[in-house]
Amino acid sequence: MAHLRFKALDLANNRPKINFESKGKISDFYAQDVFGLKQMQTLLSPDIFKKVKKVIEDGTKIDADTADVVASAVKSWALSKGVTHYTHWFQPLTGSTAEKHDTFFDAGSGIERFKGSALVQQEPDASSFPNGGIRSTFEARGYTAWDPSSPMFIYGATLCIPTIFVSYTGEALDNKAPMLKAIEAVDKAATKVCQMFDKKVTRVKASLGVEQEYFIIDKALYASRPDLVMAGRTVFGHNPARGQQLDDHYFGSIPTRIYDFMRDFEEESHRLGIPVSTRHNEVAPSQFEVAPLFEDINVATDHNQLLMDVMSRAAERHNLKVLFHEKPFAGLNGTGKHNNWSLITNTGVNLFQPSSSARDNLLFLVFFVNTIKAVYEHADLLRASIASAGNDHRLGANEAPPAIMSVFIGSQLTNVLDELEKKGNIKVEKGENMYMKLGIDKIPRIILDNTDRNRTSPFAFTGNKFEFRAVGGNENSSSPMTVLNLILAEQLTAFYENVQKEMKGGTEKRMAIVSTLRKYIKESKAIRFEGDGYSDEWVEEAEKRGLSNIKDTPRALDAYLTDKSRKMFNRHKVLNDVELEARNEIRWESYIMKIQIESRVMGDLVLNHIIPTAIAYQNKLIKNAEGLKTLGINNKEVISIIESVSGYIETLRKEVYNMIDERRRLNKEEDLRERAIGYCDDVKAKYFDTIRYAVDKLEMLVDDEDWPLVKYREMLFLR
Ligand code: ADP
Ligand code: MG
Repeated sequence: MAHLRFKALDLANNRPKINFESKGKISDFYAQDVFGLKQMQTLLSPDIFKKVKKVIEDGTKIDADTADVVASAVKSWALSKGVTHYTHWFQPLTGSTAEKHDTFFDAGSGIERFKGSALVQQEPDASSFPNGGIRSTFEARGYTAWDPSSPMFIYGATLCIPTIFVSYTGEALDNKAPMLKAIEAVDKAATKVCQMFDKKVTRVKASLGVEQEYFIIDKALYASRPDLVMAGRTVFGHNPARGQQLDDHYFGSIPTRIYDFMRDFEEESHRLGIPVSTRHNEVAPSQFEVAPLFEDINVATDHNQLLMDVMSRAAERHNLKVLFHEKPFAGLNGTGKHNNWSLITNTGVNLFQPSSSARDNLLFLVFFVNTIKAVYEHADLLRASIASAGNDHRLGANEAPPAIMSVFIGSQLTNVLDELEKKGNIKVEKGENMYMKLGIDKIPRIILDNTDRNRTSPFAFTGNKFEFRAVGGNENSSSPMTVLNLILAEQLTAFYENVQKEMKGGTEKRMAIVSTLRKYIKESKAIRFEGDGYSDEWVEEAEKRGLSNIKDTPRALDAYLTDKSRKMFNRHKVLNDVELEARNEIRWESYIMKIQIESRVMGDLVLNHIIPTAIAYQNKLIKNAEGLKTLGINNKEVISIIESVSGYIETLRKEVYNMIDERRRLNKEEDLRERAIGYCDDVKAKYFDTIRYAVDKLEMLVDDEDWPLVKYREMLFLR
């Protein structure tokens, strides 16, 4: 039975080296496969280019004639690069991306054609994408619509057109459509607030830089582990003698095989205009990180989705497998996707960047404090936005940090807020320097205190941006980015109204702003936490503060359906009630399926691999015990091992069959939320750890020669 394991190890350890030949300077090929503004400017007439640029920048609708011209230009450009097909590239609610390729070639006329209408809209016949009951089968029709704000690109021999996916009745069926609306909402609300300071601000753009963590292992070892293949994570595996306790992997030198793989996927990313810029080892063995420069959220999210695909394909070329799962290995760090987020005005001001001018710092404080307040007000929704079966293993599980939302801002800014809170009611006389009196004249322009680099906070201010770190490695950033931008839009709207109200009551503008901020600082204090977010004390402290610690996805998702959330989603036209409910159904269902798969894989492995292996080993021991006995030698030790093995076998059989019964019972539960909670409490919580414990014990007992599954130490120390 251990045959497959040793064959895989043999393959993995004797791979011929695959060298990657770089094509040279990045600037020579950067974005060469992208139909961006640069390409359009050279290929379109000046007036058409101006029109398209406006469509891209202002999000206006494109007219049919212009679309025809763009379609024809992009077709010629693509054909000249050997492209034969095009596809509307979209992000259904499965969490990945989808595409259906059509050829440009028209067999009727014998030439390549591409009309504006085919660029703008398409019907992917997508009746089997999850829709949470929005589209009944008789009208199982949705369409994809071109999103000009994210550039088209060539992937393989296909022209990919980023699109949104909606039903004919108008409901969003994808991840992108609501995010675009949330970005619009925050733009509107933030612009209004900025105009209180500077009338030249007419637009505020949300930016995102995604640090993507991942594990990487040899392809053959991956293929030999059914749990990795089926569930994306190992359900069994004893901790290796050396895990991450030495911290020797972090920022260490990159293993050569991985180095070639990295350069390979980076080069492809660069051709696709993905501004990948940093690479390094992460904390756990075989864990790494890649980060691009930040971009507009919409483009950054598309790029992250594309990057994950590029990496997976490049890994294939190097006989490797990339794991994006949030917790592929127990006992080692999980995998996140840190979402670095900021707001930048059309006048070039990053609203989260403290400035050297005291006056501008008031603007900074407005956005800074409102963000903290927004997170405080909608912490549960933010928590829900990152909820998934995979992320539950990374947040809120026994060896993982808690799922409590809190904001870290560092000691310098804590002082600033404390001072403002204390001094906010000071009267500022005419002619006095208000900023000095309130202590906001001395915010350092650059927050550079490295001791402030709190790595345990789920939501941290890092100098000129907020970093939402609780996002799962495998997730589409659009869900958290939708919520984050939406809650800030909601918060800024309330702020604006409050300031206007105070001004109408006769308060001077700046004082009205300061007094509103002061109120928010006080109200949202509980969400601010500067200590160790991974400690037990924090869990207690947070409870005292009244902060939620929602440990699992099925319950976390409830936050989308509260009155408060519904109203906010409706008010900003991001999602209506039907869409919200449908999305939760899809997420509960996906949760159930994921836990079900994990549970089945566990059952299969235990019954077909682990127990037979343990019995075979037991037989060996029995023979040995009998032999010893006939020779008159004490066989007590051997018998005690036999007893241990028997005990674990018994536990495993019992637990696995009980778990299967529990699944049978739950599958009859009609209500998806109830079923998801059942899978969480009565399948996962009740059985997973007990079963794993027994298997991992057997791994240590059974002869290494017989063990069927590739071990952690064999998977994780690839050179
Ligand atoms: P860290 O120390 O957390 O690794 P980095 O400076 O390396 O921080 O940045 C991490 C990510 O944050 C990168 O993708 C980077 O482009 C992005 N980033 C930097 N500044 C901003 C900003 N103003 N808005 C959004 N993302 C940003
Ligand atoms: Mg970071």
